[in-house]
Amino acid sequence: MVLQRIFRAVIIGPPGSGKGTVSGRISKSFGLKHISSGDILRANINAKTELGLLLKSSIDRGQLVPDHVMSRLILTDLRAIEQSSWLLDGFPRTVTQADSLDQVYSVDTVINLNVPFHTIKERLTSRWTHLPSGRVYNIDFNPPKVPGRDDVTGEPLVQRDDDTPDTVTRRLKAYETQTEPVLEYYRSKGVLETFSGTETNKIWPHVETFLHKKLSVLNHSVA
Ligand code: AMP
Repeated sequence: MVLQRIFRAVIIGPPGSGKGTVSGRISKSFGLKHISSGDILRANINAKTELGLLLKSSIDRGQLVPDHVMSRLILTDLRAIEQSSWLLDGFPRTVTQADSLDQVYSVDTVINLNVPFHTIKERLTSRWTHLPSGRVYNIDFNPPKVPGRDDVTGEPLVQRDDDTPDTVTRRLKAYETQTEPVLEYYRSKGVLETFSGTETNKIWPHVETFLHKKLSVLNHSVA
């Protein structure tokens, strides 16, 4: 679908809710630029930037990065793509971050992926990643063709430092206390759209249909 006006969306869901996969599909189907706060942080860590070195240990422990650091990082990136439609993934994660975003941009739609925590725990602890590409495998339902190897490059897969069981529990707790209030924040603004389920492939068609309708209406209102 070709967008005729700038469309700004946010996707929210607990870690392991399929946010990354759904975001990839949204950006591909609807041409939105995908900005993932976790990917930006991991790129800083891999490149051993000053910021990456500073934040690595707290990210590995499943703690959130301070709001002012995160907001500055993301708002700087958004400024560079001001004329594009975008999808924010992993930001805002606190009400303070949502407020700082709101001061600069108004968000058209917030997609909330509502996946039960017990499903997520099983999923995250069996998740393996090909770091250079970000391709993700699950040893239970989406295993690589060769165990421990990326399907495309044959390179080794790794488990993220923050996907260990204790850290997963901590990340889910952080989600509950710090990010669930962000859902309320957007619900009260009338832009929250919730999609519930346990499988990404079953949730995705509903997200796709919703965005098709939403964007057709928006495009119509410009025409
Ligand atoms: P993610 O890949 O989105 O699960 O992010 C991985 C980790 O990066 C999180 O567990 C946090 O430590 C950190 N992080 C990502 N986005 C944010 C954010 N918006 N605010 C604070 N910390 C974040």
